[in-house]
Amino acid sequence: MQKPTALVIGAGIGGIATAGRLARNGYDVTVLEKESTPGGRANQILREGHRFDIGPTLFLMPEIWEETFAALGERMSDHLELKRIDPTYKVHFADGLQLELTSDIGKMQTQLEKVEKTAFTGFLNYMAEGNKHYKMSVEKFVGRNFYNLFQYFSLANLPLLFQLKALKKHHANVSKYFNDDRLKAAFTFQNMYLGLSPFDAPATYSLLQYTELAEGVWYPMGGMYAGIQALVNIAEKLGVKFIYNAPVKKMIEESVALRLSKGGKISSVITEDGREFRADIFIGNADLPYIYKELLPENKEAKKLENKLYTCSTIMFYWGVDKEYPQIAHHNVFLGGDYKASFDQIFNDHTLPETPSFYVHAPARTDPAAAPKGQDTLYVLVPVGHLDARSGQDWEALVDRARETVLTRLGKEMGAGDLKEHTKFEIVYQPKVWKERFNLAKGAAFGLSHNFWQVGYLRPQNRHKQYKNLYFTGASTHPGTGLPIVLLSARLTTERILEEAGTISVQNMIKALAEARA
Ligand SMILES: Cc1cc2nc3c(=O)[nH]c(=O)nc-3n(C[C@H](O)[C@H](O)[C@H](O)COP(=O)(O)OP(=O)(O)OC[C@H]3O[C@@H](n4cnc5c(N)ncnc54)[C@H](O)[C@@H]3O)c2cc1C
Repeated sequence: MQKPTALVIGAGIGGIATAGRLARNGYDVTVLEKESTPGGRANQILREGHRFDIGPTLFLMPEIWEETFAALGERMSDHLELKRIDPTYKVHFADGLQLELTSDIGKMQTQLEKVEKTAFTGFLNYMAEGNKHYKMSVEKFVGRNFYNLFQYFSLANLPLLFQLKALKKHHANVSKYFNDDRLKAAFTFQNMYLGLSPFDAPATYSLLQYTELAEGVWYPMGGMYAGIQALVNIAEKLGVKFIYNAPVKKMIEESVALRLSKGGKISSVITEDGREFRADIFIGNADLPYIYKELLPENKEAKKLENKLYTCSTIMFYWGVDKEYPQIAHHNVFLGGDYKASFDQIFNDHTLPETPSFYVHAPARTDPAAAPKGQDTLYVLVPVGHLDARSGQDWEALVDRARETVLTRLGKEMGAGDLKEHTKFEIVYQPKVWKERFNLAKGAAFGLSHNFWQVGYLRPQNRHKQYKNLYFTGASTHPGTGLPIVLLSARLTTERILEEAGTISVQNMIKALAEARA
């Protein structure tokens, strides 16, 4: 019997994992990727012996990765050598305080009690809440599909929204556990991984601090890209065909009349160089708002998506340096002065805060192969607002100011005053690059935001409403952004495809029986 065919647009982690799962379930899968290599935001840069992960650097929630490998018939430990990073981060405050966030409870107690007498009790209670939020979310919220509003706001589900504190703001909630503003910051800045302000994010996200400290922050030897390479190899082994340098230009619908009757279908996609690819089902892994706006024939929905809230963007510096800086830890966070004002400037004014916070990743601390011997590979992430024509953004000036802030603080606080002289090369990414290279709407590095109105059933669904054979996987559909969460998205999208394929074949059977009787 001929296999059903699936075409995936984009070889980001969501596209790769969905392709692999579908292949394992009997589909003939082709992936079209615009770039020359897979990975999307989780791609890598190799230059002069330096290896940079472009986006993700924190390998979180290993059990979700484990589940993906298992679903593809493999064991993660056969493909990835994970090392735990502990202390997870060194956090540097503007006033000179330093905290090492660690799973060593004794060390946490000593550090926290130096800042605030009752902080350790607050910490334990906060972790307990994070544990509850994590378990409940994965089991009942981010780990499942919602097919209609009644299901989402059902009597069974409503108490969950309260138990997960989905209507409470994260920063306000953390204030119940700590009084010191620096501690409130140390236990909420992680919202930035989701591209969110802790002043807007739901308190549910205390789960992030819990997963980091309890489940651990890990690093796959070879870099985060080792995870992408492993998944691509497995998908290829399962028969998935990856076609690179193949940007999709548009999607073709079978019939306008069918779409208007809500039963429409996509029949093929056309690449920039004019090739046409047909399939039974299509899965969009490129950023969802971009697909609606740029690839689909009907774009009423695209306008609605444009008005939704988006995550922040980032200015990135990838520095190859000819000297080692062992005083810079694997993960380092430098928080700027006025915490609240800096988020307002990022999320409301869409610019670079006056005193920017930033994150530095030095992978060679754990993985010497990330830099030539005696040299260093430094990745710097500075959160900024996403693209907004009304904000009068001068990106060159903002990039210069971001670089100056980073060099000044690393010079003063880390004894790295000679960093500029030792920089052999610099690669800069900024919001326009995120938009142009990765097709991310508004250059929002993490996709659509995750406020209350944009999660669960209220987030754009993983199947198009009118085109019944068009599915989505990735950061801007349910459940959301972050590598493990996108792996969940791949699982949920595949489950939906298989369920709906099952329904269709049952319908076909009934139809066939009816025809036979007639
Ligand atoms: C700076 C940064 C830091 C991050 N840090 C972390 C972290 O530490 N830990 C973590 O878990 N997550 C992190 N994330 C989030 C994580 O990287 C993303 O959530 C995840 O990689 C998104 O995967 P995706 O498959 O949804 O999309 P993408 O990675 O964007 O993949 C989409 C793919 O579609 C391709 N494409 C686009 N348009 C077309 C087209 N027309 N035709 C064909 N192909 C197309 C793109 O080239 C891309 O390969 C970070 C993200 C960024 C940007």
